[in-house]
Amino acid sequence: MNSASGMREPSSPRHPEKAHRPDNPIPRKPDWLRVKAPGSPEYQATRRLMRALSLNTVCEEAGCPNIGECWKQKHATVMILGRVCTRSCTFCNVATGRPDLLDPHEPQRVGEAVAALGLSHVVVTSVDRDDLDDGGAGHFARTIRAIRTAAPGTTIEVLTPDFLHKADALEAVVAAGPDVFNHNLETVPRLYTEVRPGARYFHSLRLLDQVKRLNPAMFTKSGMMVGLGEDKTEVLQVMDDLRAAEVDFLTIGQYLQPTIKHHAIARFVTPEEFRSYRSFALGKGFLLVSASPLTRSSYHAGEDFARLRAARAAKLATAG
Ligand code: SF4
Repeated sequence: MNSASGMREPSSPRHPEKAHRPDNPIPRKPDWLRVKAPGSPEYQATRRLMRALSLNTVCEEAGCPNIGECWKQKHATVMILGRVCTRSCTFCNVATGRPDLLDPHEPQRVGEAVAALGLSHVVVTSVDRDDLDDGGAGHFARTIRAIRTAAPGTTIEVLTPDFLHKADALEAVVAAGPDVFNHNLETVPRLYTEVRPGARYFHSLRLLDQVKRLNPAMFTKSGMMVGLGEDKTEVLQVMDDLRAAEVDFLTIGQYLQPTIKHHAIARFVTPEEFRSYRSFALGKGFLLVSASPLTRSSYHAGEDFARLRAARAAKLATAG
């Protein structure tokens, strides 16, 4: 998951595997990354509903800076399959360690939450579950179906793990028919060993390619963070790789370091550079690109889905 946080904890028990890592001081954020503290009545109502239904959100678990804005509009990204991840990505603030027991009633509760919030579009993500035979794919599929039943008018976006070494997992999620399939590459291939040690760049890329082969009509989406130490040429190469996999929608946001034990911020990418990345990406043929310091995978996902559909329709009209 594309995570970010402004939290400054010391050695955190949420990430036992990071305790031995050297301290990386967290630089002060530039003005363009400053956001208002959450607290609106709508934010509180969204929070109460998530608590009442015992649902986890990546907004909270990753310490997302956009939570005040998103939850004010009732846009919460549900995180299924528990709140403990079996990977140890060095950028991510989601807790790691021994995973939770699978809750068979979670899909229905997600459906209830989507109906109660009256969402036109919902994003569902998860922790990595390398301990499960199917990587949690069956649970994703059940959640998609439960949302369709409880809220038939809601469009569904999934942001999935990579299902590495999990035969037929991807097929099960695609068969459940989400409207958007998102899987984040997160960073450039050179930094994978350090940033996503449990993942493989070309596996993630193939996963996105495979979605299009299984269902050419399904929108695909991927995202990356910048400020981790990559250079511009590498970012442009990732764009080319994603277009070769026919990915429709690209998101690019600034990496924010959750704690001193996480991967060090290499630098803050300026808003102007983000605009330049957006122009490059559109030139390479993505239907839609969101690139800004506060862009996250699910930021403005509902509005962006409407734009995505319109962009495809316009392209088909031109082609026809
Ligand atoms: S950007 Fe995504 S993760 Fe962050 S608060 Fe909004 S919905 Fe949640």
